[in-house]
Amino acid sequence: MSRTRGGGRHLDEDDIRVRARGGSRPRTSKRPKHENAREGMVTAVDRGRYRCLVDRVPVVAMKARELGRGSIVVGDRVDLVGDLSGRPDTLARVVRVRERGSILRRTADDTDPVERVIVANADQLAIVCALADPAPQPRFVDRCLVAAYDAGLEPLLCLTKADLASPDEMLGVYEPLGLPYEVLGPNQDLSGLRARLAGRTTVFVGSSGVGKSTLVNRLVPSAERAVGHVNAVTGRGRHTSTSASALEFDGGWLIDTPGVRSFGLAHIDPDDIVAGFHDLDEFAVDCPPECTHQEDAPGCAISAALERGEVDTDRVASLRRLLSSREGEDDTEPAAPADPRS
Ligand code: ZN
Repeated sequence: MSRTRGGGRHLDEDDIRVRARGGSRPRTSKRPKHENAREGMVTAVDRGRYRCLVDRVPVVAMKARELGRGSIVVGDRVDLVGDLSGRPDTLARVVRVRERGSILRRTADDTDPVERVIVANADQLAIVCALADPAPQPRFVDRCLVAAYDAGLEPLLCLTKADLASPDEMLGVYEPLGLPYEVLGPNQDLSGLRARLAGRTTVFVGSSGVGKSTLVNRLVPSAERAVGHVNAVTGRGRHTSTSASALEFDGGWLIDTPGVRSFGLAHIDPDDIVAGFHDLDEFAVDCPPECTHQEDAPGCAISAALERGEVDTDRVASLRRLLSSREGEDDTEPAAPADPRS
């Protein structure tokens, strides 16, 4: 799932510069730098400190100065040197960031002025949406789907609070997309979901109150303790960061994203969304340049195929909805104050 389709996208400063290594012998007799470095996975980032797992030992590290401004995010595979004992008050150093297999990012929007990489190397995006309380937010789901397609992650729809409302309407909306989904009640057996998560790296996203963290805590009960004690005054865990954190799960990873409640999508190329619809993409190649593929787009080949009955009406409607979800304000976030535990 490389991010190089389309002949290479623009790299920004958040993209890690991949250093050439291996392949050819060093030209001098000097040994390659940090050849004794060990590989770790970044599991959390908190104020310039990186929590990494190195051979199952949790290690805290800082970034080596030579790495410059490029960001290191949860999910990154990194090379570390220094004290890797994991003992209290020790600090290792991240000296290299390995090439990323996938990048989940958000562009600048009203809630955050800076484009950011959220998670690296994930392969699945679990979109958590409540069936009631709060009411389902298809627009939020659409935006997550677009972000998933853009990042090359496979979406997984998790419909929670199934004890409060029927999933039929939401499933009807997403049926044309053929999404994998799980319908979940509070006491429901999670074996179906567990099977979908095993061996994969899954990012969980969801807006306030949908039960995302509750779900993650049910899947990894030890996670609650890892988050730290909740401060009675602030209601926040002492070690709760607003950035993502990764938890080991059955040969894979679950990555919770407490601070991510929306995706800015301005960076996304509409062609990348259409590319996710193989049945429609073959017609889109005949569209005029810059075609919006919407109903009013002049000369749109998808519209023509629809008129000839060669494509599915619901699929076209879904594509158009996703394309238009890139535009305008992200109004999906409920006005209620963000609850870090939800
Ligand atoms: Zn078109």
